[in-house]
Amino acid sequence: MSDLPNCPKCHSAFTYEDGGLYICPECSHEWSPQAAPAAAAEEVLVVKDASGNVLQDGDTVTVIKDLKVKGSSSVVKVGTKVRNIRLVDGDHNIDCKIDGIGQMGLKSEFVRKA
Ligand SMILES: [Zn+2]
Repeated sequence: MSDLPNCPKCHSAFTYEDGGLYICPECSHEWSPQAAPAAAAEEVLVVKDASGNVLQDGDTVTVIKDLKVKGSSSVVKVGTKVRNIRLVDGDHNIDCKIDGIGQMGLKSEFVRKA
């Protein structure tokens, strides 16, 4: 029974399957497994570089502007290549590790896909 989804309406765990439909005995909601809710409208994270190219995890990007590193005197120089980026949700939407500086967050508008 544990592999049946909870009722999308009342979140009851006492759902059962009957004739290809899932049925919730609590609120009498019936739904088809094919139309199973796509995990509460999961948003796809789209991060674009300065030129509007869509970036992906693992991409290599080039920094297009000298960037001060927060909390240090280091600067990420324009032209710095950043390998294996990871996209995250937030103001600094690229997580990466830069040689000589370490782990940091970048804004996608200051990079270009290499
Ligand atoms: Zn229900």
